[in-house]
Amino acid sequence: MSKALLKVENLSVHYKVSGGHRKQVLKAVTDATFELHPGETLGVVGETGCGKSSLGKAILQLIPAANGRIIWQGQDLCTLSPAQMKPYRKDLQLVFQDPISSLNPRMTVGEIIGEPLRVHSPQLSSTQRSAAMAEMMERVGLLPEMARRYPNEFSGGQCQRISIARAMILNPSVIICDEPVSALDVSIQAQICNLLRALQRETGVSMVFISHDLSIIRYMCHRVLVMYLGRMMEIGAGKTFFSQPRHPYSRALIKAVPTVDFDNPSAYLDNVIEGEIPSPLNPPSGCVFRTRCAHATPQCVQTRPELEPADDGTLIACHRWRTLP
Ligand code: SF4
Repeated sequence: MSKALLKVENLSVHYKVSGGHRKQVLKAVTDATFELHPGETLGVVGETGCGKSSLGKAILQLIPAANGRIIWQGQDLCTLSPAQMKPYRKDLQLVFQDPISSLNPRMTVGEIIGEPLRVHSPQLSSTQRSAAMAEMMERVGLLPEMARRYPNEFSGGQCQRISIARAMILNPSVIICDEPVSALDVSIQAQICNLLRALQRETGVSMVFISHDLSIIRYMCHRVLVMYLGRMMEIGAGKTFFSQPRHPYSRALIKAVPTVDFDNPSAYLDNVIEGEIPSPLNPPSGCVFRTRCAHATPQCVQTRPELEPADDGTLIACHRWRTLP
């Protein structure tokens, strides 16, 4: 495998929350460790509250890390001040979940897409900026003459194209896509996914693709990271993950993907993951998935499983993955 572009080492993200009379610490991400390689898409999956978005924001230093390191070009981003971080932002960009609310309604599309150029490439003349913007708009499927219009004149899919143009105009090495299609109609989702894949082919950009939709993850991602209550459960190649998921939570997620069975329309109800996600303010002892796992043993209550490598390089955090039926 090629040399890592970005390394995340033991990254933890904590939030202070007020609960009654006392302040509590919500551990959104604990000990995340993985690498991102040039030109690859790493999918991050898990149910709501598993820490996916916090992980993405922490990588970009939009929220502080409680512990750990994010190594980019030999530099630990966690040690940088906002001013020191600025030159690195050119290479690390974000595409948001809700394209409409992520665009400033008072700015024209041209101003939105051109803003990163004004901040990071001030040496460009306005003619050069306009040319770069027009080219970028065409690459994402927008007409250059749309630059004078405002976001509220566009559909959700078009707004996401504007968002992607803004993220890509600096030719970044990494984009974090935080549920980039979940707010869009199903028919538009495929268009945006295809656009991201085309841009990756053209530019070699690496992506961290956060989603709860496993069908989209399967289509988009080379590798998959599964998170539960802020912890890594499994990480490995996408093909292996979908054909041979090892962790009980990965298996349950894949089994729970709704499929259309016309003979038995309620069949998917047999495959729901039982139980509620525990509060991240009070996670279970031992394995955090044990309260919903059909294979839990007393060892799972007492001891937290570490990530263990399988022969193919997949890492799995489960005491029993080698012996499960
Ligand atoms: S460690 Fe135990 S509780 Fe956790 S996933 Fe494995 S079998 Fe289930």
